Amino acid sequence: MDVYQQYEGGYRPTVTIDLGRLVGNFRRLAARQPSAEAAAVVKCDAYGLGLLPCARALVERGGCQTFFVAHPEEGARLRDGLADLAPEAEIFVLNGPTLASLPVFRAARLTPVVNSLRQARLWTDHHAGEPCGLHADVGIHRLGVPADEIDAALALPGLNATLFMGHLSCAGTPDDPTNDQELERFRMLADRAGKARLSLVSSGGALIGDAFGFDLIRLGVGLYGVSPFGEEVKEVKPVATLTAEVLQAQTVPAGGRVGYSGLFEAKRPTRLATLALGYGDGFPRAAPADGGAGSVNVVVGGAACPVVGCVSMDLVTVDVTEAPGDVAPGDQAEVFGDRMR
Ligand SMILES: *Cc1c(COP(=O)(O)O)cnc(C)c1O
Repeated sequence: MDVYQQYEGGYRPTVTIDLGRLVGNFRRLAARQPSAEAAAVVKCDAYGLGLLPCARALVERGGCQTFFVAHPEEGARLRDGLADLAPEAEIFVLNGPTLASLPVFRAARLTPVVNSLRQARLWTDHHAGEPCGLHADVGIHRLGVPADEIDAALALPGLNATLFMGHLSCAGTPDDPTNDQELERFRMLADRAGKARLSLVSSGGALIGDAFGFDLIRLGVGLYGVSPFGEEVKEVKPVATLTAEVLQAQTVPAGGRVGYSGLFEAKRPTRLATLALGYGDGFPRAAPADGGAGSVNVVVGGAACPVVGCVSMDLVTVDVTEAPGDVAPGDQAEVFGDRMR
């Protein structure tokens, strides 16, 4: 199975996922840090693209053996879903353990990433000697053990940190000097981590330079076709395409107003297409409604057309005046995918 659909049929908007592209992104990003192991971050249902189909493709065709999820429940689902294919895959849980979730770690053989002294103590109190990741805060101040508590964490009796981790705060802007400062801070802290394997970067950091790769890279957003830098990078090709059906097409005269509260007013006779897509599907409800700069574009009939008027729960209207040819009910609009890049 190479291409599948997240939900199908009827008037629902449809996400089509190209697993060949996913694996291609994995291979190309991994090739940028050839001396590091490439691990896949599959939290949040593989960034919405489907945990098990994505993870299984990465194992089967990418050789991936190490995964990161955010929550233990996701880890348990992944463990079950890989039982036949990669029973020994290592599954790290980025948000770490809580007292209530400890049984899930045990049952599903999950490895916690401990992000604080408190989590480190919880793990060693209940699982002394068992492997964990230790996440050092190198400057992002989000999760992670503060630099001045690293020694105390490493000295906890029973702590077996097999992975020593950091996470860059500015990897999305490769020229930012913060990246080198955080790299230095990570090196300094990692010196104390003994035999633990080292991992600093996610998708963006993996592309910054050789020095950032260490032993393991944690690839997330780039796998799923979104460039970590905003602008295109050659390693990352689109994976997901979101299409929505045209339900109605009409022309309104100049002065006609569109949608709730009439937030868009046609300046000229305007061709409109109404799509079966709305904020109930995750389309941003706060998208600009006036059709001006900053509008969200969707592709209709091969042309980029602005969303106009207020986004409704299950409907949006698009100005298709500039679309070549006829636009008719049953046509598919592409909200994102190949043609939007
Ligand atoms: C989400 C996450 C990743 C993956 O990051 P991307 O930018 O999506 O590649 C890696 N490491 C940590 C700690 C994360 O939280």
